[in-house]
Formats: sequence, structure tokens, C-alpha cells
Amino acid sequence: MKAEFSQALGISEEIFTELLERGIVRLMRYRNIEYAVFRKSTHGVGEGTAVVIKDGKVYVIPPYPSIQRILLLESVRKHFIDTVVIEEKLDGYNVRVAMLGNEIFAFTRGGFICPYTTHRIRHDLGRELRQLLEDNDSLIVAGEVIGPENPYVPHEYPEAGGFSFFAFDILSPEGKQLPVDERNTLLDKYGVPRVRELGRVSKEELREIRGILKELDRDGREGVVMKDPLYRVPPLKYTTHAANIGDLSVGMRFFFDEGRSYIFSRLLREIFMLYEEGAGDERIREIAEKLGMSLLVPALNTVREVEAKGAVFAEYRLRVYDERVIEEILDFMQSLGMGPEIINVKREGDSIIFVLKKMKRTSDEVRHILKTGYAPID
Ligand code: ATP
Repeated sequence: MKAEFSQALGISEEIFTELLERGIVRLMRYRNIEYAVFRKSTHGVGEGTAVVIKDGKVYVIPPYPSIQRILLLESVRKHFIDTVVIEEKLDGYNVRVAMLGNEIFAFTRGGFICPYTTHRIRHDLGRELRQLLEDNDSLIVAGEVIGPENPYVPHEYPEAGGFSFFAFDILSPEGKQLPVDERNTLLDKYGVPRVRELGRVSKEELREIRGILKELDRDGREGVVMKDPLYRVPPLKYTTHAANIGDLSVGMRFFFDEGRSYIFSRLLREIFMLYEEGAGDERIREIAEKLGMSLLVPALNTVREVEAKGAVFAEYRLRVYDERVIEEILDFMQSLGMGPEIINVKREGDSIIFVLKKMKRTSDEVRHILKTGYAPID
């Protein structure tokens, strides 16, 4: 098995073994499939690459490339060549859908085959995606799963229902994005939903981009990804006040987990956004209040909840159409060290809904502080 993996990647078996031993590569199993996941970039193989062996055939799924964030919109002028396609940035989780043999599979950003996402994508959008990938079998469709029914980023969107997939790129087998119009034509031909295009402007038209962002911010939406129509230069991402503050609120509920790592990055975004806006005292006070509240309120509520109930949990409402998938989700999460619990299993029509409860480190830290009064950091 190792020989097949290393051969497909063009690295020696000894190196592959060493990468396994050092935990840089992880071997995983999904049903009758064995696959290897690259958890860091090494030897020319990018982080999030998955190498899959199915029915004796080897498939290499390239990673989804990282997108450069900008803090100043002004930099759009320097970065792009002429035209900029402005797409909505949806707040969910990144999924690559690939055809392996005669079935489609959903890979998370890290390169894992997620049993839940695979099941839901097949159920909700299987026909369209399968047709597209059957006719173009070496391509990979990348998109965002949004909506409240998932175990990663539950977020309500009026247009999304419980679980929706919106494609934002089609990758070649080498991991290169197809030009925007070519991608759109393919997705539309097969009826695969795609992210909204909010505008196509000259890179000099920053006013137009600012207008789009103002509207997104007002509607509480995440932001934009700006792309060269032909991918001659890499895309850029930029998020709204609403997203930065919303992230903090969500993150600070578990302030020893996500919260602490969110704070400085979001603050930096706000500092430069206010600077570029030329914000006056009143505007600064408005944002400062929102920022402060998003940092303190969820964290304080967590302390009170730990005191009253002994712990806080992250809870995710999921829906499946096949009972066996529940066990697969549990096994998958457990293998990634998340040790979840399943509660409130209920039938609803042809589906089963249940809650996945994940333990959080924040509970232990807060319990310890409440007991001893000692600070865990100086
Ligand atoms: P990165 O992916 O840039 O390394 P990250 O994993 O922290 O960073 P984000 O900062 O949320 O993710 O931004 C990038 C992600 O945004 C993409 O990986 C993708 O999942 C998501 N996304 C949402 N909408 C789009 C879009 N229209 N085009 C590209 N990506 C999008």
C-alpha cells in the first residue's frame, strides 16, 4: 500500500514511511477506501492533499490554494492587472468534490473524506455534480457548504436551508483554477449552484467595491473574494466589519479554544478598515462598542454556564438520510480526536436529525479558574 502512495506522489517509500512516523502524513480509511492525507506541505506535496486508493486505482486530490487576505482595499489597484471579478465570500466550510471510480466524495480543507458531507452532497446535489464530474472526470469542484446543518461552521443564510453547497472554483488535476467564465459555463450547464458574482469592475473602481462591501456589511454577510477573470494573478479576500465582529462573538464562547487565536487577527482587520474609512470619533466609538461586547458577552456567559452546569459544549444539528452514516460520523470525529457525543436523535420524514455535542477545552480551564482563582497565563 505504502509503495502505491509514494509512487503516485513521486517520493521514495522510505521518505513516505518517515512522513508517516512524524505524523506529517496520516493514513485514513473511509468504507473500503484507504487514503493518505498531507497535514503539512512537504516534498512538493501541498498541505491538504489526499491520495486515495480505490479499487486498485490511485487518485491524487490537490489542495485548495490559500487565499491572500488584504487589510487595505487600496492594494487591489496594485495587485490586479485590469478587470476584477468580485464574488461573494460565503461563510461555511471548504469542500472539494471529486469523482473516484463511479462515486463522488467530499474532501474537507485538510484533505479528509468527510462521511457527513459526502452523504449530504450525494443526497442533495449528487445527480448534478456526478454528471459534471463524469463528463470531466479529472476535474475537482471546490465550493463552500453553508447553512446550519453541519459539524464545522453552522451559520444561517436566508438562501441556504439546512445544508447547501455553492461552487466557487473548478480545479484541474494539478490544482489550478479554471478561468472564471469557463467555470461558470460548466457549472451552469450541469445545474451546480455557484457563489454570487457581485460585480466585474476595473481595478481602479474602488468606489464600486466599497459600495458592494457596505451593502454586504449591512446585511451581515462575510465579504468578498476578488479574482482575475483568467487567474493570471491569485485572488484576494476581504471581510466586513459584521464578519470580523461576528467571528469574535462565536469564537469567544469558547475563549480558550477558538477565541484567543481569533482576537489579534480580527483586531488588525478592524484597525486598518477604520483607518482606510477615515473613521471619525463617533464611528470609532460605534465599532469599539461592538468589538468590546463581542469579546466580553459570550465569554462571560460561558463562565456563568460553567458555574451553573459544569461545562459548555459546542452543539451541531445534523440531518442524515441513512442511519449508518451516524456511526461513520462518530468514528470519523473520534479518529480526529474530537470525541463527540450524539444526543436527541429524532426521525423527521425520510431523514434523521440529531445533535452532535463536542467537548471544549474552555470548560476545563474555566472550571479550574473557578475552583482555584489562579490565572493560567500571567
Ligand atoms: P485560506 O483558505 O485563505 O488559507 P482560511 O482557511 O482561514 O484561509 P478563509 O479566511 O475563510 O479561510 O478564506 C478562504 C476560504 O473562503 C476558502 O478556502 C473558501 O473555503 C472560502 N470561500 C468562500 N467563498 C469563496 C469564493 N467565492 N471564492 C473562493 N473561496 C471562497
